[in-house]
Amino acid sequence: MADEFDVVVIGAGPAGYPAAIRGAQNGLKVACVDAWRNRDGTAALGGTCLNAGCIPSKALLESTELYHRLRKEFAVHGIRASGIELDLPTMQQRRAGIVKKMTDGIGALFKAAGVTAIQGHGRLLPDRRVEVTAQDGSKRLLAAKHVVLASGSAPIELKGLPFDGEHIIDSWTALELGAVPKRLGVIGAGAIGLELGSVWRRLGSEVVVLEALNEFLAAADRQLAREALRQLRQQELDIRLGASVSAARTVSGAVEVSYDDAKGSQRVTVDTLIVAVGRRPYTEDLLAPDTGVILDRRGFVTVDEQCATGVDGVWAIGDCVRGPMLAHKGKEEGVMVADLIAGRYGEVNYRAIPSIIYTAPEIATVGATEEQVKASGRAYKVGVFPFLANGRARALEATAGFVKMISAADDDEILGVHIIGPLAGELIAEAVLALEYRASSEDLQRTMHAHPTLSEALHEASLAVDKRSIDSINKS
Ligand code: FAD
Ligand code: NAD
Repeated sequence: MADEFDVVVIGAGPAGYPAAIRGAQNGLKVACVDAWRNRDGTAALGGTCLNAGCIPSKALLESTELYHRLRKEFAVHGIRASGIELDLPTMQQRRAGIVKKMTDGIGALFKAAGVTAIQGHGRLLPDRRVEVTAQDGSKRLLAAKHVVLASGSAPIELKGLPFDGEHIIDSWTALELGAVPKRLGVIGAGAIGLELGSVWRRLGSEVVVLEALNEFLAAADRQLAREALRQLRQQELDIRLGASVSAARTVSGAVEVSYDDAKGSQRVTVDTLIVAVGRRPYTEDLLAPDTGVILDRRGFVTVDEQCATGVDGVWAIGDCVRGPMLAHKGKEEGVMVADLIAGRYGEVNYRAIPSIIYTAPEIATVGATEEQVKASGRAYKVGVFPFLANGRARALEATAGFVKMISAADDDEILGVHIIGPLAGELIAEAVLALEYRASSEDLQRTMHAHPTLSEALHEASLAVDKRSIDSINKS
């Protein structure tokens, strides 16, 4: 006999758990099936993001930035510190403690909302039935009016460079290292490579980042990417572009990495190598034959704009479907689907998805790059405001970077905002709201921003769009 639910969600990551909670908020009977196992075998809710991604990486980024600033940047404030020591075990315990609190928190939210959490591997059968296999191998059958697939993603392994958990490692292992590698190699200058490269660089590793593409942050606005590359190289991250890694071998505890660049075959030897070349949708044993759900060439579940798979009552959200692999994108898809299931209105605005890299300075963008707007043929205006001219940034001693705003020449609609600078990840929220409401740069110009705040840089960038910045010299 199958246990019956209105909605069964497979996966309790940042896409699946909000879908389950919103489903319950909508008065539906919801179960959420999740198979996550920590390295010690314990189960935890929250998926990649909470257990091995967003949250532990940000915990370490914060700790290591404080360590770095205390050693290198406090003296300018007139604060002298001596005897500064790194206590990596405590830093790692803090990281693990934050993760545990957050993942336990989802259990509490499920309980409060009335979501039934089921530990085990879920497999979709025809007719919206789900077979759950527990860790002990026992099976349970669920039947639902709607099934939401939210199985997430897994790191891509490069051919010839299998993860060995010790020298050639994925991002999860890289977050849990118990010692600072003397020489660290990172393959891939994406968000993971730059964030984890920064963490270990700040703790003293010599870091070399090998990026296959000739362009740094190829999808980003070029002006922003140039500034980011300059800032990160100043931090002695040895970023090598046009460096495509073909092989690596471990010899006497070190990894010899072979790569090709414009000059030919190159080699670099490191103690630890993080492979961060992207992630792939994780759909292993997710679908029984004949469910009708289609996987595309790369393994993503095929869905429409509303995350419907085309099979009646089966939806898919988050990293296992098209679009950027970002926690907040998955969350909004989860909420949309849960509302659509309940007959309510639901929509995701795929044109206003913010993207942040939590380096120092942070890199945050939303909307179109200048190159994309130019390629579209639409006439546009650009305003750039440097943090050098912002009082709060001066007080913070964090003046590197700028806010760049692009708006349409005809109706002034804001098309894109690109920020590199202090707390850029927080500042971008205002720009996301502006895009969501299809605001013009004039709307922002006429909005009061408190002084002295970093947000004034966004205000001034909007003024600079019309060459009316007050706090910087407007260039014609
Ligand atoms: P996941 O989080 O992968 O969750 C899927 C869950 O489903 C997992 O618990 C999995 O065990 C479970 N599952 C899979 N198959 C089954 C099955 N058949 N049955 C039962 N359970 C199953 N994104 C950001 O937006 N901001 C960040 O700062 C950020 N930092 C990151 C840092 C790192 C190091 C990494 C690796 C990723 C980071 N990401 C970040 C990306 C983010 O983690 C993902 O976009 C997000 O986790 C995707 O959510 P999801 O729910 O789709 O999948
Ligand atoms: P990514 O796709 O962002 O970057 C991977 C990089 O590796 C690319 O620049 C690619 O050109 C390069 N590459 C691929 N093969 C290579 C090779 N053989 N040699 C050298 N370089 C090679 O992927 P990622 O950094 O692994 O991150 C995975 C996903 O997780 C992304 O979708 C990202 O959005 C998400 N994530 C987000 C955040 C955040 O929002 N702050 C943080 C971490 C991860």
